[in-house]
Formats: sequence, structure tokens, C-alpha cells
Amino acid sequence: MFNLSRYFSTLSFLLIALAAVLLGAFHRELALREMREQAESHNVALVRVLENALAAPLAGLVAGTLGLEKLPAGDDASRDALRSQITALTQGGPVLGVAIHNRLGTTVLATDPAELGGRHLDEADFREAMQGRVGSRLLRIEPAPGAPAVDLLNSRIPLRQRDGSVVGVYEIERDVSAFVARLNRDLWLLGGVLAAVFGGLYLAQYLLVRHAQRVLREQARGLADARDTLELRVEARTEELVRINRRLSQEIDERRQVEQQLNYLAHHDALTGLANRRAFIEHVERCIGEAKPLAILFIDLDQFKQVNDTLGHGVGDDVLIAVAARLEERAHWADRLARLGGDEFICLIEGADQGDEIALAAGEIVAAFAEPFELGGNAFYLSASVGVCRHPRDGVTVGELLRNADTAMYRAKADGRGQFRFYETTMTDDARQRSHLENRLRQAVDRNELEIYLQPQVDTASGRLVGAEALLRWRNPALGLVMPGRFIPLAEETGLIFALGNWVLREACRQVVEWREIGFALPQISVNLSARQLERPGFVDEVLGILAETGIDPRVLKLELTESALMAIDNVTHLLQPLRDLGVTLALDDFGTGYSSLAYLKALPVQQLKIDASFVQGIGRGTGDEAIIRTIMELARSLSFEVVAEGVETAGQARFLEALGCQRLQGHLHGAAVAPEAFLARWREHR
Ligand code: C2E
Ligand code: MG
Ligand code: MG
Repeated sequence: MFNLSRYFSTLSFLLIALAAVLLGAFHRELALREMREQAESHNVALVRVLENALAAPLAGLVAGTLGLEKLPAGDDASRDALRSQITALTQGGPVLGVAIHNRLGTTVLATDPAELGGRHLDEADFREAMQGRVGSRLLRIEPAPGAPAVDLLNSRIPLRQRDGSVVGVYEIERDVSAFVARLNRDLWLLGGVLAAVFGGLYLAQYLLVRHAQRVLREQARGLADARDTLELRVEARTEELVRINRRLSQEIDERRQVEQQLNYLAHHDALTGLANRRAFIEHVERCIGEAKPLAILFIDLDQFKQVNDTLGHGVGDDVLIAVAARLEERAHWADRLARLGGDEFICLIEGADQGDEIALAAGEIVAAFAEPFELGGNAFYLSASVGVCRHPRDGVTVGELLRNADTAMYRAKADGRGQFRFYETTMTDDARQRSHLENRLRQAVDRNELEIYLQPQVDTASGRLVGAEALLRWRNPALGLVMPGRFIPLAEETGLIFALGNWVLREACRQVVEWREIGFALPQISVNLSARQLERPGFVDEVLGILAETGIDPRVLKLELTESALMAIDNVTHLLQPLRDLGVTLALDDFGTGYSSLAYLKALPVQQLKIDASFVQGIGRGTGDEAIIRTIMELARSLSFEVVAEGVETAGQARFLEALGCQRLQGHLHGAAVAPEAFLARWREHR
């Protein structure tokens, strides 16, 4: 730090010392000048005295000596007299000597005779005086060696004649030692006073400055401390900011990731990773906006519900993933592949307007399902139905296009599955018809349009009637007699199946009881149940209620369930136990068309298997169906199931089944399903 007091003390000391020296010198100069002027005026006054007293002789002397080579020494009486007179006049005063020089600078008279004849023409003082001016010099002389020095003022004063002209020069030496001594004494005194005053001043300033310096130093220290704390705080704050910044950018990163993830999820199907419905719709809307021709291929798996119901949703999901992968591989030419949900996929071809080209693509998709899907060591055979719809030909909005593609897909399914269909406007009419059908079916129960038909089941060996299956018929004034294949799926989809199912069960039981009352004891009545009925909470209670209400002997009742229906329900054994306890028989309908594992079959609460008609119809045709029937029979024997064969139409089929030990037969060979009256008429007297 700048040392104020050091610099100040040095500088102010120097300045004060300088001021003191200058003051002293100034004072001395002033005093000397005054003394000189005073002494000079005394000398001039003395000259006046000398002139008043000795003007004439002096002028004579001066004039008389002009032109002389050498002055006569001592013997000049007048000169001695003059000298005596001058000495007398100056006696006792401070005048040490008086000399008079003539115009040529020669000393013509002097109080000290040794000076006589001295030459002064070259001296500046002399010449000045000759020009009429008075000049003085201060001198210090040593009168004798070792004697104290004397200060004197030497004045040269013009010597004038009466007419005022200068004819010579007076030289007067006046002793000013006393004055100089006093002056020196005064100077010392003044020096002392000045030293004291300036010293005091210096000291006061020094103290003040030192104090100021201390204050400044303290302030500087305070400032440094403050700066240090500030720096520390700034450092800490900076670190904190860096931390906050880091955390913020981390949060921003995370948020961005989440947003990306959300965006991904919003546009992708979580299960298969394909685009989802929303992404697909957005994309198609864009394409429509660009007026591109488009082909939309709506893909629906045919047996997927069965896979899901029988093998569980886990396997179902795996199948969907495998299907998605297969589609991506085979339909690599597709511009977009998406999963709309469930087992519905969709494929978009942009710029396609040629029917052949699109048909080729749709055919490839159908063919992609020809090979089985390998999952967990099992091979799954699936097929897909594809509906094709084109923009702008078949629709101009996404909604329209999707609806029409869906309609075409339904047509492909209705036409036997595993194929594709192009949308045609007439299909929409079909769909409209479907909705008409649904509306009519809703009113069917209330309007008493439902009937049951009965089909006999006979003992294989004896041909005796052992029971009958109740099959639902819908007699509509406009539609005529509608078969269950046409309306049961619709009833299942719309939930109407609950009302229909209950009606059939009630009607079948009522019919059996009624016949018993008139003496016709039907040994057993089979009623079909849909999977959806089983899934409905309170289903068993409803059945129990109907049993109680109609008063049927529960042992006469047999319920037919499909494999998929049984497997769709968790803990089905437990659920159906109350019915089993009452003696109700449970049969597995359409056996062989599902996916039941043997282990699972063993655990099911059924007592009867119904071999599906499709196998029976293959008997004698070398289709491998006989081998299947043989296997089923083996299985049934080992698990002690009774077996009913469905759809038996020929005696040959009956013989084949009998040979394998099939206990019961059902089919046109022994009678088709007929109205109750016809059934009664045919079987009442039968033994
Ligand atoms: P299902 O339970 O397997 O019924 C047997 C079907 O085979 C009946 O068709 C029957 O008429 C037919 N059938 C019987 N013998 C022969 C034959 O020798 N040859 C041929 N070709 N067919 C024969 P239906 O009555 O059209 O019923 C079809 C399906 O509708 C039934 O198959 C059953 O799954 C369902 N269904 C019928 N009524 C009901 C019902 O009340 N509730 C439920 N949930 N489903 C029902
Ligand atoms: Mg059946
Ligand atoms: Mg069946």
C-alpha cells in the first residue's frame, strides 16, 4: 500500500526546510539591502560634510593631480592637512577609511597613506561613479593576519565641481561588522523560531497524516476483508449456480426424455412397437391432405380370440408380437404398419391405385400366415382376414376408409377367413343389414320369435334315445327361420346372448318338465352355453334359479361348453361345482377344434366329449380325421369321458364310431333338429 506518512514526511520535511532556508535567505537579503542603503546614505552624507568643509581644496587637489605620472608622497603639506581634517571629521565613527581618486582613477588622497597613488581606472565601481552614480560593495577583510575579520561597505561616490561635473571619486569604507554580527544573530534567532514553527507544523501535519494513514489502512484492511468475504460468497454462489445449472439441465434432459418417451408411447403400440391407431390416423390424414392415392389393408387374425381364451393373455401377447414381426418382415414394402388394437393390424400403401398391385400385396399378407408361428416350442397355425379399401375411390376421410376396410375385412371373414376382400359399396349395405338384424334380434325375446328345436342323441349300440340337444331358432316374420350361425355371434358381440341363453335354458327345462307331466320322459336335455355367459358374474346363480323355477330334475340337464369357453374362465371347476353337486352333466362341445392341452383337459369338470362334426364328416375320406377320432377315443377312455359324436350322417360313420367305442351319436342319420311337437311325435312311442 502507498505509504502516505513516509512520502508525506519526506516531502513536507524537504518543503519546510526549503521554505525555512528561502525565508532566512530572503530576510538576510532584505536586511543586508537595508543596511547597505543606510550605510551608503551615511557615506553620501559624509561626502556632503566633506564637500561642505573641504570643497575647494579637494577640487584643487583633484585637478592638480591630473597629468602627474607620480604623486608626491607625504611631503605635500596641503594634502596632509586635508587628510588630518578628514580624519578629524570621521574620527570615532564607523568610517574606516576615506580615499579620493581623480578622474584617471589615481588615488590622490587617502586616510591610509599607503593607498596613495593606487590606480582604479579599470574598476567598474569607479567608472560608475565617474558617470554620476553611487555604487557600493560589501566586503569582508582581515585587517591583519590573524585579526578578526571586518565587514565593511565600500562606497564610490562622485566628486563634483560647483558646476556639477564629476571630476573624481570618493571611496569611503564604513565598518558594518556590528550590523552584520547582529544580522547573523537575528538570523540564528529567526532560524530557531522558523525551525520551531515549521517543526511544530511538520509534527502536526505528520501526526495528522499518520492518523489519516492509519485510518486509511484500517479502511483498506476492512475493504480487503469485505472483498475477501465477497469473493468467498461469490465463489460459493457460483458453485451453487453451477450445481443448480447442472441439476436444471439434468432435469431438462430427463423431461426431454420423458417427453420423447411419451411421444413415442403416444404414437406407438406398447406391445409390438408398431405405430398405433393415433399415429396411423394422423399419417393417413396427412396423405389425404396431399391427395395421394392410398390403399389401406385392414388385417384381423382369425383364431386369435381362441388363442387368447385358451392359452391365456401372456401367450396371446407373444403371438401378437410374433405377428407384428412377421408382418414387418413380409410387408416390408408397406409405407406404414400399425396395430389398431386387439388382433387388428393395418397396413398402408401410398400411391397405390392399381387393383392388381394391391391384390398382390394383400395376397402376400394372407400368405405370410401360411407358416406356423413358433412360440415356446409350440407351433401355432393362424390365419388372417384382410379387408382392402382405397382412397379416394372408397372414401375420403380416415373414418370412412377405416370403416370400409373393416367392412371388407368382415366380408373376408364371412367368406371363410384366411383371405382378402376389396371393399365394395354393397358391403356397407350388408353392414347396415347386420345392424337391422341386431335391432330385430333385440325384440325377438319380447315378441316371442324364439323357438327351440330338438335333435336326438341315441345310444350307439342299441339306437335308443338317450337325450336331445336344444338348438335355438329364430322365426322372424320378415326373415323367416333364422339359424343360430347367423345370429349367435351377433348376440355374443352385442351382449344379447345373456337374454337368449336364459330363454333357451328356461324353455328347454320347461319343455322337459311339461313332457314328463304328460308321460314322456326325455332322459337328458343338452343346452349350449357361450363363453360370454360363463364369464358373466352370477351366471351359476341364474342357472340354479332357472332349475328351481322350472322344477326340472338337475340330473336330466346337460350343459355344452366349448373348450375356449371353459378355458376363458379362471377356476372354472370351482365355479361350476354347485351345478355338479346337483348332478348337472357338463359336456365339452366341438372337441378337437380348440387348443386344450391334455393336462388341462384332465382338470376340467366335464364328463362328456362331443367330437366335432368336421372330424366325423372326414370318416372314410382318408383325410386324417379318422386318426384324430381314434386319438380322441383313446384319450376319452383313459380319462373316463363319455363320447358323443356329432354330425353323424351315414351308417358307415356310425359303424366306424361304434367300432371305436363311441357311446352316443347325434346327427341327421338319427334325426335332424326339429320343433318340439315333431320331436315328441317321433320319439314318444320309441323304445
Ligand atoms: P353345436 O352345438 O355343435 O350344434 C350342432 C350343430 O350341428 C347344429 O347346428 C345341428 O343342427 C348341426 N347338426 C346336427 N346333426 C348334423 C348332421 O348330421 N349334419 C350336419 N351338417 N349338421 C348337423 P345348428 O342348430 O345350426 O347350431 C349351430 C351352432 O349354434 C351349435 O353348434 C351351437 O354352437 C350354436 N347354438 C345353437 N343353439 C344355441 C344356443 O341355444 N345357445 C348357444 N350358445 N349356442 C347355440
Ligand atoms: Mg352343441
Ligand atoms: Mg358342436
